[in-house]
Amino acid sequence: MTEMKYLIVGDSAAGVGCIEGIRAADRGGEVTVVSAEARGCYSRPLISYRLSGKVDDAGMSFRGEDFFRENGVTLLEGREAVRLDPEGRSLMLKDGGVLPYDRLLWAAGSSPAVPPIPGLERVTNRTPFHSWDDEERLEAMLTPGARVLILGGGLVGIKCAEALTKKDVRVCVAEGLPRILAAVLDDEAAAMAQAHMERAGVAFRVGDAVASFDESRAVFRSGAEEKFGVLVLAAGVRPNISVLKTAGAACSRGVLIDAAGRTSLPGVWAAGDCAEGTDCSTGKSAVMALWPNARLQGEAAGRSMAGAEAGFSDAIPVNATSVLGFPFATAGAQEGESRVLRGRGAYKRLFYGGGRLTGYIMAGDAAKAGIYTALIRRREPLDGLDLSLVCAEPSLLAFTAQRRDELLNHVETEAV
Ligand SMILES: Cc1cc2nc3c(=O)[nH]c(=O)nc-3n(C[C@H](O)[C@H](O)[C@H](O)COP(=O)(O)OP(=O)(O)OC[C@H]3O[C@@H](n4cnc5c(N)ncnc54)[C@H](O)[C@@H]3O)c2cc1C
Repeated sequence: MTEMKYLIVGDSAAGVGCIEGIRAADRGGEVTVVSAEARGCYSRPLISYRLSGKVDDAGMSFRGEDFFRENGVTLLEGREAVRLDPEGRSLMLKDGGVLPYDRLLWAAGSSPAVPPIPGLERVTNRTPFHSWDDEERLEAMLTPGARVLILGGGLVGIKCAEALTKKDVRVCVAEGLPRILAAVLDDEAAAMAQAHMERAGVAFRVGDAVASFDESRAVFRSGAEEKFGVLVLAAGVRPNISVLKTAGAACSRGVLIDAAGRTSLPGVWAAGDCAEGTDCSTGKSAVMALWPNARLQGEAAGRSMAGAEAGFSDAIPVNATSVLGFPFATAGAQEGESRVLRGRGAYKRLFYGGGRLTGYIMAGDAAKAGIYTALIRRREPLDGLDLSLVCAEPSLLAFTAQRRDELLNHVETEAV
């Protein structure tokens, strides 16, 4: 029997998950990974920690050369895929190379969005903050006392601001929406995070979108102005789907995938920030652009590509991090009925509906959030549980002994 040729585009969270998934089911097939970046396989969320000096170059590595060697993977770096021929099962590279495959995973992630703000092209000292290259570019632009304006108060902009507090610069975050971290936190939790960062010296302009730029000045809709020497673009990302779309794959915001990561094209799977699957906390189709999700989607796709039973049907958005020592964790949907608990610098909001927990926000204290995450992923029925106890303290004691054992097995594997 001839060996299967697997081709993976992207060597980040989803690509690595896919290698692990393939190798769990097929030790012999030929695996090639092609990646446009030439930085090795690194942890993208750590770029802000490299900027602050908390992580060095070695610490950026997610998987070293030994991982690729031990898994018999050929890694082609600095090579960009530009066209896919799904009938001929081959991938064309920008440098003219052609890679044949039997089964392909598209795990090309996302690219920073460039907001259509008049005058942006006149700002010469600007950079996105999405890759290790961007981080180095930003670092090179910083001069003592520089004023840095970060456009976008989402997770990326906030992590960048956190890192810049360790530099001799003045930082202002501009967010057009009424609150920072709008995709993950509600008004109250976002206000707590913002107040915490303000105490550490970060300035904010929230609920006032930038209307135009000149080379070193942002003019806001309100008429207010903000001068800057460096502009960081952190105004969202767009999934890298153009190659698959041109090849005929069904796409919405991302490439549409089923629970095993299959796209509408035969022999082609997708995973991670470029893919759109079902969020089991809402039942809706969504791009869940988060590291653990990319990893698990990639792994399910890898197993499926290798012919094993596979599916990642309990995908939900999950996020846990901290800014300047202020922890927060969120998962699932933020809709429907909710119960709020406040106390000692902490805020918790649990969302529920249809007899189960559907989402949560924890800010100021995110300890044991993984228990809530497990309840949401497993669609655990709330009847028979002491809801007040579950809300007050994410403790397994609210469950029967048998359920505690089952949940413990699951919680140990949860990232959050
Ligand atoms: C500053 C920052 C902080 C973050 N913090 C968090 C966090 O706290 N928690 C969290 O869960 N997530 C966080 N994220 C998001 C997280 O990094 C992403 O969800 C994750 O990296 C997605 O992994 P991926 O494998 O889908 O794609 P990516 O990590 O985007 O990797 C895509 C890969 O594809 C390659 N590629 C792209 N196009 C092509 C092409 N045409 N040909 C060949 N190769 C190509 C790229 O070179 C890259 O290697 C953060 C992101 C940033 C930028």
